[in-house]
Amino acid sequence: MNARVLILHTGGTIGMTGSPDGLRPMAGFGAALGAQLQATGAPDCDIVELAPLIDSANLQPAHWRHIADALLSRWDDYAGFVVLHGTDTMAWSASALSFMLRGADKPVIFTGAQIPLLLPRSDAAGHLRAALEIAAAGTVREVGLLFGQRLLRGNRSRKLKSVAFDAFDSPNCLPLADIGIDITVHPERLLAPTERRFTLPAFDAEAVAVLPIWPGLPARVVDALLESPAVRGLILASYGVGNVPDADAALIDTLARAVDRGVVVLNTSQCPVGPVAQGAYATGAVLNRIGVVPGGDMTPEAAFAKLHVLLADGGDAAAVRAQLGRPLCGEMS
Ligand code: ASP
Repeated sequence: MNARVLILHTGGTIGMTGSPDGLRPMAGFGAALGAQLQATGAPDCDIVELAPLIDSANLQPAHWRHIADALLSRWDDYAGFVVLHGTDTMAWSASALSFMLRGADKPVIFTGAQIPLLLPRSDAAGHLRAALEIAAAGTVREVGLLFGQRLLRGNRSRKLKSVAFDAFDSPNCLPLADIGIDITVHPERLLAPTERRFTLPAFDAEAVAVLPIWPGLPARVVDALLESPAVRGLILASYGVGNVPDADAALIDTLARAVDRGVVVLNTSQCPVGPVAQGAYATGAVLNRIGVVPGGDMTPEAAFAKLHVLLADGGDAAAVRAQLGRPLCGEMS
């Protein structure tokens, strides 16, 4: 088996340099990275850079297709893949890739850094080295996100800390591996192999909207959000176990009309830990009555990416709703 790994650099702090406006992606990072990897005797690898490199705050759903395309066009040539990505939207991209590469038979490990590789005290080299070893070993056959001392399931991960080195966690899912002196993979936590179901859909960036519920949210704000016919999916970020202000008839009516005209509405919680239990309270049961899909313990990032991929894949509302409520690749318990 050829244990060569492909590193796909998309941008992010790991490959940035200072500018008068703060950190920006750096030209020539691939060459600097290659030299450093060679000097430190890393596993055999090739480096590909996406153009243009981005701060991941600029990520669009179309980038997910570019990333997946770059991996799939080289899928048979490598034992595994490391995707270098900005931390701001890494959880969103790792989630999206997990739905585009269902049944992946090779590791796809997202990583990045809080401090650029070429600056003092960087956390990048440790992440990179561990990600390369996991990708070369081939045991973890799914999309993971490696940060700090852990490998997390990509579609369970969230960036929870903005400046700490352990920026990511997967609050509803145990880590897939612990990174210490040894890299300890937990085989019982990995996805069971399934049939490959790769997809490279064309995304419409307007297809999915996100609506946080807040005290006093006016129905007309929701109407305005859903006004465009391009919006075909809505992620609710509701309170607690999935509750919304059911006393506001206009608000509930707005959501019900959206469902009736074919908008797929998925309910996630504003709480990072624990599942949606739609109907534990009357304030959540109303969503069952109007056809909102409960999101279980899916992260908002995974819910958003899942809905985008399913809609872009061409399913009608009924088919998308049916798939949304069940786990496709470890994204919900
Ligand atoms: N703004 C950066 C990005 O997401 C942050 C990072 O990479 O840590 O690209």
